[in-house]
Amino acid sequence: MDTLRADAVSAYGDVEGTTPTFDTLAASGHLYTRAYAPSPWTVPSHASLVTGMSIDAHGVGVNGRVVLPQQAETLAERLGAAGYETAAFSENALISAAFGFDQGFEHFSVRTAEEQMAAEQKLVIDVVDELAHWLQSRDSERPFFVFINLYDAHEPYEIRSENPFLPAGTTTADARRIRAGGRTSHLICDRLPAKGHLEILQGLYLGEVASADRKLKAIHALLDDQSVSNLITVVTSDHGEHFGEYRLLDHEFSVRDEVLRIPLLVHHPDMEPATLAQPVELRDVARALLGWAGADFAGITTPGLEGIQEGAAQAPASLFALYSDTRMQLPQAFDAASAQQVRDFKRQGCSEADRVFGDMVAVTRYPFRLNWYENYPSEFFDLSRETGEPLGREARRPQLVATLEREAQQFANRVGLGGKDAAEPLSPESEAALRSLGYID
Ligand SMILES: [Zn+2]
Repeated sequence: MDTLRADAVSAYGDVEGTTPTFDTLAASGHLYTRAYAPSPWTVPSHASLVTGMSIDAHGVGVNGRVVLPQQAETLAERLGAAGYETAAFSENALISAAFGFDQGFEHFSVRTAEEQMAAEQKLVIDVVDELAHWLQSRDSERPFFVFINLYDAHEPYEIRSENPFLPAGTTTADARRIRAGGRTSHLICDRLPAKGHLEILQGLYLGEVASADRKLKAIHALLDDQSVSNLITVVTSDHGEHFGEYRLLDHEFSVRDEVLRIPLLVHHPDMEPATLAQPVELRDVARALLGWAGADFAGITTPGLEGIQEGAAQAPASLFALYSDTRMQLPQAFDAASAQQVRDFKRQGCSEADRVFGDMVAVTRYPFRLNWYENYPSEFFDLSRETGEPLGREARRPQLVATLEREAQQFANRVGLGGKDAAEPLSPESEAALRSLGYID
């Protein structure tokens, strides 16, 4: 479920009734209360989800690299090698062949970038319908692996005739006016909407979360109907979303908890239900699934979800997350120059105090987190406190801060952050010019 903030899921107790299907699965499965994404946006996070690798190991999302390399061994490739039939259904154009995510899938349904750009309403592909169709034609002799990305919770939000999550008294006309133009991700810093407007946006978002959960219900029912006794269901997200914290909306230019903390559940009919507070990472899912499926997981260094027990709340090691601010080398169908212009445009109303420029690394040693910035002093958080605000200087632990700062710096050095000389892709014009001159053929 793309763009799903953990606290937008009712199973976590901060909001009521957004995700009844998730909640039901969680109540009879394992609910992870401290699961973290390795990045605040789709492509690097999915790269970790499907390879089990950390962001410094696969390099996707670092210094402009945004395509999963062919050498990467994906869940679908490893499960395919173990005899599984594999299918993917993606509502997000970034989770597609252009970004390397089709590796290992025998069947891949995705809505295209053009469809996504043009989408005023989100049902360009009907995931539930396409899944039902695929299940009818699948080889019932083989075990199967299905990957689904639901895009509902990503802006632009639909205005639904019924949405109980909007503030009382909000009319459809109000909602329409607030999200005039559809996109909201540029409404940051000086453009940040007033509090009442933010609450309406958040209500629209929760309406979309509920919509994704209804699809989850239909999807789970279809898979359950296959009468397999050992269906394992994992529900998670790739990142969260800002709603005005630090004058931000959307999920760019930040490694705060609002964008890194994600929901995670694992469900299996024979499971002892448990709520697990030990911090885990999105990439742990791949190792866990491969282990349960009896497939090869050579080269994946995370222990997965093995050994996570009730009661423990300490991270076994530091967890890293990254936002890299280098110009992206987008696949051909996507316009890298305009993507950069959009990013620059969004930050026009931002100042130094907003901390939105340059590379960022988050190091989590629960309950503590240090956010390291290429261009600004670090922030230090105690994630167990009610308030999400960074701790003031007097409340900091100097030794721990120094250690985490060193770890963040080492991580930044290891991935080679700040590689501003990363090669830019050729524009179609320069490519045509070089071709006509015979430099490329
Ligand atoms: Zn995403």
